[in-house]
Amino acid sequence: MDKKLLQSADAAHLMHPFSDFKEMVEEGTRLITNAEDAYIVDVDGHRMLDAMSGLWCCNLGYSRKEIIKAIDDQLNTLPYYNSFFQCTTPASVELARVISEIAPEGMNNVFFTGSGSEANDTNLRMIRRYWDLKEQPEKRIIISRKNAYHGSTIAGASLGGMNGMHKQFSRLDNIVHIDQPYWFEEGGDMSPEEFGIHAANALETKIQELGPERVAAFIAEPIQGAGGVIIPPESYWPQIKKILAKYDILMVMDEVIFGFGRTGQWFGSQYYDIQPDLLTFAKAVTNGYYPLGGVMVGDKVADVLKSGGGEFTHGYTYSAHPAACAAGLATINILRDEKIIEKMAEDTGPYLQQRWKELGEHRIVGEARGLGFVGALELVKDKASRARFDDKCTAGAICRTMSIKNGLVMRATGDAMIIAPPLILTREQVDELITKAERALDDTAEALG
Ligand code: PLP
Repeated sequence: MDKKLLQSADAAHLMHPFSDFKEMVEEGTRLITNAEDAYIVDVDGHRMLDAMSGLWCCNLGYSRKEIIKAIDDQLNTLPYYNSFFQCTTPASVELARVISEIAPEGMNNVFFTGSGSEANDTNLRMIRRYWDLKEQPEKRIIISRKNAYHGSTIAGASLGGMNGMHKQFSRLDNIVHIDQPYWFEEGGDMSPEEFGIHAANALETKIQELGPERVAAFIAEPIQGAGGVIIPPESYWPQIKKILAKYDILMVMDEVIFGFGRTGQWFGSQYYDIQPDLLTFAKAVTNGYYPLGGVMVGDKVADVLKSGGGEFTHGYTYSAHPAACAAGLATINILRDEKIIEKMAEDTGPYLQQRWKELGEHRIVGEARGLGFVGALELVKDKASRARFDDKCTAGAICRTMSIKNGLVMRATGDAMIIAPPLILTREQVDELITKAERALDDTAEALG
């Protein structure tokens, strides 16, 4: 493999998502060539423990031949057929059935898409159709949260609350954002529990300001993932549930990151005891081996959509792609048969959290938080005041580089270092992760002086 040739062709021809094109051409890209178990290997043979599961998707790591075989078998039997105009395939029916077995209660229908962004577009279409069929067409507004990530299509990015993204396009109407439950950054003098209630009450304030009769839905990730693993205080979700129950507003849970085991339950909704009306999933449903996303539809919404009559004029060429569905089935079978989620919840999850919290003692870590198999470290110059190093998030970028140098993939969201490792890590691999993260923190502290 000719590294230089590939890198120059990359710079000449390939435009990467969420990348600075100018910087990429100047500095080159990281060329990943192989992967196995929980590790990725670059073109120079540098092996890294991938504590991000690719892009939050390879929950079972990189070596699951069963999924590859299921895709291969399906491609050899029926490589493609669509699900438009009342057509279907055995793999898509079976996956829809199996998903309804593991879904939060009362979510017995699935609409498949090719990605999480497409699934959130689908949510918008379903929410609108639902309220139209209920003869409440004035219910149009969707409340989301600042710093949320809901994808990168125009609808997904409008639903999301990322300022940097909003600057680059014109947002859709009828989407408003409230504050996020980010205690470390925004909690001030409040205790986490007080702040959780305060942040949840922002929803009620917004509903009253807009008029409940105009609010169609509230969308949220159980824990904001890409925003920096923002774990809400324990008081947050119960209060949100109370507020949503008081007004006639649909709850959309975006579980693209937390679905399929990351909290120690199949879905974050189950972890937080939330009953969504619509649930977005993608990524880990196929262990990242084949593109697939979708919306689980609760009975309340499905019954209205199904009884409405008239065509639902929405869908994608690859909705319910048979090979993607075969990959989804194989993935869920492994998670179930090998009790991967249960084992993580009982053993390696608590162990990872215990060890991760130890990193909170490091002199540049202001907070080490985590849950299940996710974690975040807030990098600070001063622990007591939580002051950052500077306002350009250089500490996060440096720590990311140091982490890679030390053989560990962590992601930087601003100055928060985040992890979401494959659920299959052993205790020894958890130790390896912590040792490497500690070295990366030491190197970062040294580089920052
Ligand atoms: N929703 C959430 C919570 C996500 O984290 C993501 C992607 O990271 C998406 C939606 C978009 O998914 P996709 O990149 O598959 O379109």
